[in-house]
Amino acid sequence: MVQLQVFFFPVMAHGHMIPILDMARLFASRGVHSTIITTPLNAPAFAKGVQRSNDLGFQMTVKLLQFPKVDGLPEDCENADQLTSPAMFPIFFGATKLLKDQLEQLLEEYRPNCLVADLFFPWATDSAAKFDIPRLVFHGSSFFASCAGEQVRLHRPFKNLKNDSDEFFVPNFPHKIKLCLSQIPPHVRTEEETEFAKTLTEARESESRSHGVIVNSFYELEPEYVDHYRNVLNRRAWHIGPLSLCNRSLEEKAQRGKQAAISEDDCLKWLDSKSPNSVLYVCFGSISKIPTEQLHEIAMGLEASGQQFIWVVRKGTNDKETEDWMPEGFEERMIGKGLIIRGWAPQVMILDHGAVGGFVTHCGWNSTLEGIAAGVPMVTWPSFAEQFYNEKLITDVLRIGVSVGAKEWVAGTGGGNIKRDAVETAVRSIIVGEEAKERRNRCKGLKEMAKKAVEEGGSSYSDLNALIQELSLHPSSN
Ligand code: UDP
Repeated sequence: MVQLQVFFFPVMAHGHMIPILDMARLFASRGVHSTIITTPLNAPAFAKGVQRSNDLGFQMTVKLLQFPKVDGLPEDCENADQLTSPAMFPIFFGATKLLKDQLEQLLEEYRPNCLVADLFFPWATDSAAKFDIPRLVFHGSSFFASCAGEQVRLHRPFKNLKNDSDEFFVPNFPHKIKLCLSQIPPHVRTEEETEFAKTLTEARESESRSHGVIVNSFYELEPEYVDHYRNVLNRRAWHIGPLSLCNRSLEEKAQRGKQAAISEDDCLKWLDSKSPNSVLYVCFGSISKIPTEQLHEIAMGLEASGQQFIWVVRKGTNDKETEDWMPEGFEERMIGKGLIIRGWAPQVMILDHGAVGGFVTHCGWNSTLEGIAAGVPMVTWPSFAEQFYNEKLITDVLRIGVSVGAKEWVAGTGGGNIKRDAVETAVRSIIVGEEAKERRNRCKGLKEMAKKAVEEGGSSYSDLNALIQELSLHPSSN
């Protein structure tokens, strides 16, 4: 049989590059030749993962496209985490549209059997169709959030609401899910077609013309919503996650995304000195930049809670190198109790450590699923994208988390003006007490299910088999 060749093309943001690298490695481990398409400054993020696969005898390659030079972006900007204001996002996505010709040259030259391209590259469906190549979409969300977002967009259940705090239910939905007006993104609330709304409309249209969607999830986690997505919204989808579980060794878990700002050894030594389930891990993903005042409130809340923590601090864009968020003497008082990582943390390695008993998360889908796969209960603190829906999955459906009370959709700031008392109450309740124990037990059950899903015969393992089988029967493969 001829070897299948699949191209993977993630948008240049770590929340998409990380799962797509895992996905490409997973395909390669099933005999597919996986090729990652990216730009020169993003290539290092893939190098180790690709090398590891090749060392195991699997076939993986990286192909580079030159990131277009456009006005309005920082110098040498090729990744969304370098954007210094929300206004730069449309410019960044606009620039990625200019990659079309270069992508098509690659497709023409190599004629892969399939192109897995990011949601943010709606134009990729037409590019692939030019060469009769099936295009699969990766949007990086849960089934739950995709279904909720679609029902809310279609039926606009918030349309007669006036005040930010006015509430509504997600219509046509298996569970009763209540949100308030301010948790809906501005581009959904408004009737105007903003630049970002236009991109999302194009993404939806291109998805409907594509071969289907690959979802980083597993059936047992959200069965009603896998079914809803397939049968009510009529989308073709394959669930093949949790993708992070393809990282089995300590090294693989520690070296995802960027170079960590702490050595593996130092981090593990710190964690090893703590008792089981006693440490909170606090991290808001790869993009959020938390304003100074909010960092200050988090510090005060963590200290008042009396809980031990690892806190990944990404500073706001205006406070450069200053540490004016830090309460006086905070770091000294926290020696042995709280570890601050300034920059990138080895997240999956930390979450998988037995000492970690809670995860304060912005509810990005990768982080959420990594928390679930590690069996760790969560304090939910959503801010933008589909994070408010993921929060509801965690707190109301799976009942493995406590909300800190964020109510306002704000792009990229991960703030929400949450006071220290709310932080203190939420973090304490996730570690201490009877309910915490029950939550932890539910988490253990989900962790086991996640592991089974990716093992031979499991739901995700089988869905990936079905997808590879289908691609090998596609006319483009014969
Ligand atoms: N991540 C990490 N270390 C950090 C911050 C983030 O390893 O210090 C990883 C995290 O494990 C996850 C991804 O970056 O895989 C973030 O994706 P998510 O969907 O949670 O959030 P986003 O960054 O897209 O908002």
